[in-house]
Amino acid sequence: MSETESSVPHVEQRSIFARLVRFGRATLSIALDGALPPLCVSCRTPLGNPGGLCPACWSRVSFIAPPYCERLGIPFAYDPGPGILSMEAIADPPAYGRARAAVRYDDVARDLVHRLKYGDRLDLAISIGRWMARAGQELLEDADALVPVPLHWRRLWGRRFNQAAVLAKAATSNSGLPVLTGALRRVRATPQQVGLSRNARAANVQGAFAVTQDGRTAIYGKRLVLVDDVLTSGATVDACARTLLRAGARNVDVIVFARVVATVRVPI
Ligand SMILES: [Zn+2]
Repeated sequence: MSETESSVPHVEQRSIFARLVRFGRATLSIALDGALPPLCVSCRTPLGNPGGLCPACWSRVSFIAPPYCERLGIPFAYDPGPGILSMEAIADPPAYGRARAAVRYDDVARDLVHRLKYGDRLDLAISIGRWMARAGQELLEDADALVPVPLHWRRLWGRRFNQAAVLAKAATSNSGLPVLTGALRRVRATPQQVGLSRNARAANVQGAFAVTQDGRTAIYGKRLVLVDDVLTSGATVDACARTLLRAGARNVDVIVFARVVATVRVPI
């Protein structure tokens, strides 16, 4: 599958990831040297092990665990038994198959995403990617490749890297699944989704994505996992999944770091 990846080159993201790996190794070697203790990825408190959170930060992260909706991964208030779906999944089924998120989107998650995106804290991606791989383990086991949700080039230019691509590479570092960074393209710059209603969000991303020429071959007949940092209404990943399925992907699942959970659902 490395052939597929090399046919969809993305030099910039690769060099970022190389930096990330180098940084991880450097952190590890520093820790082994005992010159400097490893630090909490969120608050920079000295720690016993590298790449983790201090007990105080750890206790503030809301990890999502079963029971949850089999389809959307929305946590349930109690365990209704296997295979039960949420009201949202039945009333308004998404184009993608299943979605899983590592944590609930709250103040701590927002802080971690912000540090990852704007603070050049790429070491965070190693920990976040590990949490995502654990949350989406069964999806990754069924997948042929990962596809990060793309940024428009103008935003990529401003930020220098696509956090979804960095997270996809970190999440797949153990499984070795290929990450198709150039398969999907954002063809229309979309205004920020923040503050938009659910319907407005869906309209906002309508027709915003396209499969590239190289991507067409890479994704055809493949079981894909879309990767993004945050899932709010799901409109963005839904638009991406629709685009990939129309271009011939066999199925599309979704793994994100954090998802908005309005309230804990009672299963129906
Ligand atoms: Zn901390």
